[in-house]
Amino acid sequence: MIDRDPTVVRVTTEAMFAGLRDSGLKITPQRAAIVRELAGDPSHPTAQEIFDRLRGSVPSMSFATVYNTLDALVRSGLCGALSLAPGATRFDANMHAHHHAVCDQCGMVRDVPREGPADLAARVPGFSVRAVERIYRGLCSECAGAAPPQPDPSH
Ligand code: ZN
Ligand code: MN
Repeated sequence: MIDRDPTVVRVTTEAMFAGLRDSGLKITPQRAAIVRELAGDPSHPTAQEIFDRLRGSVPSMSFATVYNTLDALVRSGLCGALSLAPGATRFDANMHAHHHAVCDQCGMVRDVPREGPADLAARVPGFSVRAVERIYRGLCSECAGAAPPQPDPSH
């Protein structure tokens, strides 16, 4: 746990390596690179983004290895999987309970601290609540400040 922000509890690379071993996966150089990339990244990358970053520098990196490694981490409870847009699962090494804000324009994902304790069981009678995931959608400050696309005057 390396972050000082109390709403951020990042899973350490050591914990992720242990989780992969427990899942029966050997810590190959490829898997070690994937773990290091994810553990240090607050941007909620997709499997494709991690693959694109590592493919040039890590020999014989494959998309399947990236995907399978992330999948094993999620199943071991060592990283979160967010479905914020269709077809693009994002991975999150912050395992403190929190919400997310997503920019409609650039897709940026930011952590949002969870509000105080809530009586979850009372809100959903007859249901055992495991987690609450809230998504704030809108524009990031960069996109909100950008000029809107200009209409083409030739039309
Ligand atoms: Zn944006
Ligand atoms: Mn997050």
